[in-house]
Amino acid sequence: MLCSSCNTRNPEGATKCSECGSSLLPFSVEVETGPDPYYETGPGKAEGLVDIIFNSIAAWVSGFKMRRELKKALGRKPTNADLSSLHTWMEVRDKEEKVSIAEKREASSSRASRS
Ligand SMILES: [Zn+2]
Repeated sequence: MLCSSCNTRNPEGATKCSECGSSLLPFSVEVETGPDPYYETGPGKAEGLVDIIFNSIAAWVSGFKMRRELKKALGRKPTNADLSSLHTWMEVRDKEEKVSIAEKREASSSRASRS
């Protein structure tokens, strides 16, 4: 094994030059140490992380939409108890139904008055 620094011939398998002490690691070992094997599992780990982030964003967005819907229906700022309250949501659906029925009546009456 020739030393790249001082060109001293060292015994095969030596990791350090006997003359100048610089590293004599064989070329094949240097290639093997290139890509870290732990990075091979990287994409899988990253996907899991993306999943977690995506799910928490989706939960946040749906929570935001629910709050907005509740605020519109109740005419007040919803509390955290309202979000998980079945009674509140039934109230919301009830109000929405009444609004849609009223809209339908309005539409049909305006159509009737025109003819
Ligand atoms: Zn050397």
